[in-house]
Amino acid sequence: MRGKPIVDVERCKGCMLCNAVCPENIMGIGERFNRQGLAYAVCVNEEACTTCRSCAIICPESAIRIIKYVEG
Ligand code: SF4
Ligand code: SF4
Repeated sequence: MRGKPIVDVERCKGCMLCNAVCPENIMGIGERFNRQGLAYAVCVNEEACTTCRSCAIICPESAIRIIKYVEG
Protein backbone atom coordinates (compact mmCIF):
# COMPACT_ATOMS: atom_id res chain seq x y z
CA MET A 1 0.00 0.00 0.00
CA ARG A 2 1.33 3.39 -0.99
CA GLY A 3 -0.07 6.85 -0.63
CA LYS A 4 0.45 10.56 -0.94
CA PRO A 5 -0.80 13.85 0.42
CA ILE A 6 -3.38 15.80 -1.54
CA VAL A 7 -3.38 19.53 -0.81
CA ASP A 8 -6.55 21.60 -1.10
CA VAL A 9 -4.76 24.54 -2.68
CA GLU A 10 -7.49 27.06 -1.89
CA ARG A 11 -7.31 26.29 1.83
CA CYS A 12 -3.51 26.26 2.03
CA LYS A 13 -1.81 29.35 3.48
CA GLY A 14 1.73 28.24 2.68
CA CYS A 15 2.83 28.09 6.34
CA MET A 16 4.96 24.95 5.77
CA LEU A 17 4.07 23.38 9.10
CA CYS A 18 3.39 20.27 7.05
CA ASN A 19 7.02 20.06 6.02
CA ALA A 20 8.22 20.86 9.52
CA VAL A 21 6.60 17.66 10.82
CA CYS A 22 7.14 15.48 7.76
CA PRO A 23 9.76 12.83 8.60
CA GLU A 24 10.69 12.69 4.93
CA ASN A 25 10.75 16.50 4.36
CA ILE A 26 8.88 16.13 1.12
CA MET A 27 6.49 19.06 1.35
CA GLY A 28 7.57 22.19 -0.43
CA ILE A 29 6.18 25.44 -1.78
CA GLY A 30 5.18 25.39 -5.40
CA GLU A 31 5.58 28.13 -7.97
CA ARG A 32 1.88 28.69 -8.54
CA PHE A 33 -0.57 30.72 -6.48
CA ASN A 34 -4.09 30.07 -5.26
CA ARG A 35 -7.01 32.50 -5.60
CA GLN A 36 -5.89 34.31 -2.44
CA GLY A 37 -2.55 34.97 -4.11
CA LEU A 38 -0.71 32.59 -1.80
CA ALA A 39 1.90 30.08 -2.90
CA TYR A 40 0.68 26.71 -1.71
CA ALA A 41 2.25 23.47 -0.55
CA VAL A 42 3.06 20.66 -2.92
CA CYS A 43 4.51 17.23 -2.31
CA VAL A 44 7.89 17.19 -4.01
CA ASN A 45 8.55 13.46 -3.71
CA GLU A 46 5.39 11.39 -3.57
CA GLU A 47 7.41 8.18 -3.81
CA ALA A 48 8.89 8.86 -0.37
CA CYS A 49 5.57 9.38 1.43
CA THR A 50 4.99 6.81 4.17
CA THR A 51 1.36 7.92 4.70
CA CYS A 52 2.11 8.72 8.34
CA ARG A 53 -0.51 11.53 8.21
CA SER A 54 1.58 13.92 10.33
CA CYS A 55 1.16 16.66 7.74
CA ALA A 56 -2.60 16.25 7.63
CA ILE A 57 -2.85 16.29 11.43
CA ILE A 58 -0.72 19.42 11.93
CA CYS A 59 -2.20 21.50 9.12
CA PRO A 60 -4.09 24.40 10.75
CA GLU A 61 -6.26 24.79 7.66
CA SER A 62 -7.17 21.09 7.37
CA ALA A 63 -5.93 21.39 3.81
CA ILE A 64 -4.29 17.97 3.49
CA ARG A 65 -5.80 14.57 3.08
CA ILE A 66 -3.86 11.38 2.51
CA ILE A 67 -4.90 9.00 -0.20
CA LYS A 68 -3.76 5.42 -0.23
CA TYR A 69 -3.59 3.13 -3.19
CA VAL A 70 -2.33 -0.26 -4.20
CA GLU A 71 0.51 -0.21 -6.71
CA GLY A 72 0.21 -1.98 -10.03
S1 SF4 B 1 0.40 23.04 6.90
FE1 SF4 B 1 -1.46 23.23 5.65
S2 SF4 B 1 -1.70 25.44 5.35
FE2 SF4 B 1 0.40 25.10 6.01
S3 SF4 B 1 1.57 24.90 4.08
FE3 SF4 B 1 1.00 22.83 4.74
S4 SF4 B 1 -0.92 22.40 3.64
FE4 SF4 B 1 -0.60 24.61 3.58
S1 SF4 C 1 1.92 11.58 5.19
FE1 SF4 C 1 3.83 11.70 6.41
S2 SF4 C 1 5.47 11.17 4.98
FE2 SF4 C 1 3.65 11.66 3.74
S3 SF4 C 1 3.90 13.83 3.24
FE3 SF4 C 1 2.63 13.72 5.10
S4 SF4 C 1 4.07 13.89 6.83
FE4 SF4 C 1 5.27 13.40 4.97
